[in-house]
Formats: sequence, structure tokens, C-alpha cells
Amino acid sequence: MSEPAIIVEGVSKSYGGFQALKQVSFTVEKGECYAFLGPNGAGKTTMMKILYGRVSHHPSEGTIKVFGLDPHRNSLAIRSITGIVPQDDNLDYELTVEENLLIYSRYYGLEKHLARSRIDDLLDFMEIADKRKANIRELSGGMRRRLIIARALLHSPQLLILDEPTTGLDPQVRHHIWDKLRVLLREGVTILLTTHYMDEAFQIADRLLILHEGQKITEGKPSELIKAHIEPYVYELPNEKATLCTPKGYVRIEKSGEMIRYYAHDISVLQHLAECFPPGTGFIRQANLEDVFLKLTGRELHE
Ligand code: ATP
Repeated sequence: MSEPAIIVEGVSKSYGGFQALKQVSFTVEKGECYAFLGPNGAGKTTMMKILYGRVSHHPSEGTIKVFGLDPHRNSLAIRSITGIVPQDDNLDYELTVEENLLIYSRYYGLEKHLARSRIDDLLDFMEIADKRKANIRELSGGMRRRLIIARALLHSPQLLILDEPTTGLDPQVRHHIWDKLRVLLREGVTILLTTHYMDEAFQIADRLLILHEGQKITEGKPSELIKAHIEPYVYELPNEKATLCTPKGYVRIEKSGEMIRYYAHDISVLQHLAECFPPGTGFIRQANLEDVFLKLTGRELHE
């Protein structure tokens, strides 16, 4: 088997006295989509930036290899094989769509003819070719994001790093972007992303890592994490109704804010419980990645 695309072992990072990452380890295989999940401030962006050399980790601790390269020493070489889609919109608003891409193609050292045809292909691929001459201000949020992804792909990177690629976008654009990422995965690109959307992680990540307060909590395939950490069924209803009935059989109860959730392995226990309430009180559903995430990282706010 070939060496993984990314190897991270025991990596820590402090900002002044604050420890943003604590002994984090993981590997990403070539051609896989690996997602970072974690509450605000968990350290996801910091980890991404360390991988492409934008932020330095404690150099005396841990090891990092990105396609065999050390970001501390070889950040330029890493950027030449990596496309980066940052969390913030860092397009140049003085330039058109095409000019934004041309500037970057020069940064990557692409020869003019090659750059032109690559830009044509990428505008088609991201379905924004009709906006080629538009100013950035004229684009919707979804178009800007698609342009930033196109820009990250100019130099045909082996690794694509996306920090919250679909935050704030409507469902159509999110699905469009997921489809494009699937095409890139089929072509052998390795993808690393951070997200707050559990459905995004479930839809496109082969494996994911949950980070909480700088520490790795767990890692695995989405469906395996659900199996390992949570009962398969949940009955969810408003808190104030819950005193009316008691379950007959084992359930795990989670109360939070206005809601109560009964988790069970046996769906019939939940069905019996639901029958005891007036019809339409709450609903039974399959447990999902969001249940796992909230169980492992808590339901309180992390602000
Ligand atoms: P979010 O989901 O909100 O983007 P995140 O998981 O990406 O969060 P990071 O941006 O990596 O988290 O931040 C991790 C912690 O490190 C936070 O507490 C943040 O305030 C702190 N931090 C990040 N960058 C710096 C910096 N340059 N200086 C000081 N503290 C920082």
C-alpha cells in the first residue's frame, strides 16, 4: 500500500498561553475525503493551516507529512500540490471573475495558453462560465464560493483543503458543490474539509474526525460512528409533555432546553412509549451523526 497522503502524529499548537490543539494524530489516505467536525473554536482551521504551512505548530513536538513533505520546511512545495479554499471570501473585488483566475494562474506559474484553457475548463466545471466577465460584486454567495473552488483547482492539485466549503449556501448550491467534489474524488484528488454540517460529512466524507477543545474525540466512517456511539432510534418530543408516560424497556434519556430525547436499541419500546402520548406528540426517527456529535461534544454553546 502506498504511503498515506497526510500523516499527523502528536501535533499541538498554542496561541500564547492558550492550547488550541492537544496531541492530535490522524492519517488521510490518498484519494479519500476526510472531514473535520467540531464546535466553534475546536481547532479545525488551525489544523488545516498547519498542514499547508500557514501556521506553525510546536516544531519540537509531533510529526506532519503532507505527501511526504514537512509543512514547517516545505510550505511552498506543499502549496504547489495543494488547492486551498479558505473560510473567508478572499477574492479580489477590483477584478472580474476571469481576472481573479488569471492572477492566480500567474502565481502558480502557469504558461498563458495553458492558463486560458484551464480557466475555460474550470469555469465550465463549476458552471459559472457565463459570469466570466462579471465583477465579483455581481456574483451571488454561491457563485463566489464556486469561483474560489475553481481558483483552488487551477494547478490541478493532488490535495484539496476546504474550510467550511458550503457554510451559508442554499441547498441547491451545497448539492452542486458536493457533486463536484465527488467528481474530483473519482479523479483521485485527496480532499480534506472542515464542516459544521453533519449531512455534508455524511454525504461526502469517507471518514471523519471529531475535534473538541483541541482534542481528538473520535474518528471513523460516518455510519460506523453512529453504530459505535449511539442507539439506532430516537423519540423526540417537547420536554413539558414528557412527565405523562414512562417507557417500558431500556431507553437512554437526554434532556436539553425545550426537548427530551429517548434513545433506544429496540424501536418497539419507543413505539409503545409514543402510543401513550396524544397523537402527533413528537416523532420517532433514526439516530444520525448530529446525535453522535452532540453526545460527544455536549449540547451547551461553545462561544
Ligand atoms: P470555527 O468552527 O469557529 O471556525 P475552529 O474549530 O476552526 O472554529 P480555530 O479557528 O482553529 O477553531 O480556533 C481554535 C482556537 O484558537 C479558538 O479558541 C481561537 O479563538 C484560537 N485562535 C485561533 N487563531 C488564533 C490566533 N491567531 N491568535 C490567538 N488565538 C487564536
